[in-house]
Amino acid sequence: MYDIKQIREDFPILSRSVYGKPLVYLDNGATTQKPRSVVDAIAEEYYSVNANVHRGVHFLSQQATDLHEASRERVRAFINARSTSEIIFTRGTTESINLVASSFVESQMQAGDEVIISQMEHHSNIVSWQLQAMKKGIILKVIPINDAGELLLDEFEKLITPRTKIVSVMHVSNVLGTINPIKQIIRIAHSHNVPVLIDGAQSVPHQKIDVQELDADFFVFSAHKMYGPTGIGVLYGKEAWLDKLPPYQGGGEMIQNVSFEKTTFNVLPFKFEAGTPDYIGTTAFAKAIDYVEALGLENIAAYEHELLTYATQEMKSIKGMRIIGEAEQKSGVISFLVGDIHHFDMGTLLDRLGIAVRTGHHCAEPLMRRMGIEGTVRASFGLYNTKEEINVLIEGIKRVQTMF
Ligand code: PLP
Repeated sequence: MYDIKQIREDFPILSRSVYGKPLVYLDNGATTQKPRSVVDAIAEEYYSVNANVHRGVHFLSQQATDLHEASRERVRAFINARSTSEIIFTRGTTESINLVASSFVESQMQAGDEVIISQMEHHSNIVSWQLQAMKKGIILKVIPINDAGELLLDEFEKLITPRTKIVSVMHVSNVLGTINPIKQIIRIAHSHNVPVLIDGAQSVPHQKIDVQELDADFFVFSAHKMYGPTGIGVLYGKEAWLDKLPPYQGGGEMIQNVSFEKTTFNVLPFKFEAGTPDYIGTTAFAKAIDYVEALGLENIAAYEHELLTYATQEMKSIKGMRIIGEAEQKSGVISFLVGDIHHFDMGTLLDRLGIAVRTGHHCAEPLMRRMGIEGTVRASFGLYNTKEEINVLIEGIKRVQTMF
């Protein structure tokens, strides 16, 4: 049962006020709030288990290692990966993409080879490739979008050439809310023997992901956007690919034997996990997975879709409202502009009413240029938002409008 009252009680921060107004938190695309079970897990592990993992013979170290590795198994099951060897813990989506970009370009690409991304990518899926491209003379190609904010699949296929070595696209746009047809993208890319990385930062919290069913070669996401702690993310990669890629960073954990003449590397997934991992974070991450799975991702998706439909309809009734991103398949994100009110002014004044939204380019400057704007106001929904909160947002926007 989707008991919204109970759900909201699980998130203590939601009952606080700002500027004397009840908090209306609509910045879930940036980060989500944490349920008590996640925060408690952090304190409990520090209080009663804390010890460095993997290397210790003592009791606490083994217990911490068991918790850490159980979390890896929890993540594996959550996205239905074949093996825990395919689950690399990173600091987040950004680090996961940088890891693949660095190791893939180094080992699989030559000058003149091509990477395909899309017009709507987050900077992390643009700049990570650019940094490598600059070093090696790699060409970046961009899938265009239509005015509604949907990828042009026909154009995508035309971009693929024998020099295309990888496609890297987002599943759900953090700005437009567009749910991209990644299954089709993967199928098209694979028909040309090109692997695909999916940036799942904005999809994993809102829909069930099965990496085997998708047949994604790499799939990346962050714990903090799905009610887990900051500083933890995942790189899922097919074992066959991860085996081919060289390590990203050097240090402890990722080696088998070290001498000054020659070093051999550890097996997967440890080959890509240099240094002490955030083992407290992974335990708390597993609790976040428990939380969303107990509610059911299908239920979360249905509930958030209802919020999106309601909010879209209400917002469209506001004079001068322009919604940026009207894809047919959309997640719970609404980017908007009202009349000629600057997005920053709108966001700042809504904040005074207790409403937390995000303003600006949302780390997607090329997308802003394509849409012919500098920035937007963005309301992004999470599993604990309500229609009443949307009403507060609508009233807030109208109130700001009267000030101009
Ligand atoms: N990709 C997308 C689509 C995002 O929305 C974000 C964050 O907003 C990122 C990547 C970067 O995620 P992180 O900052 O957790 O590494």
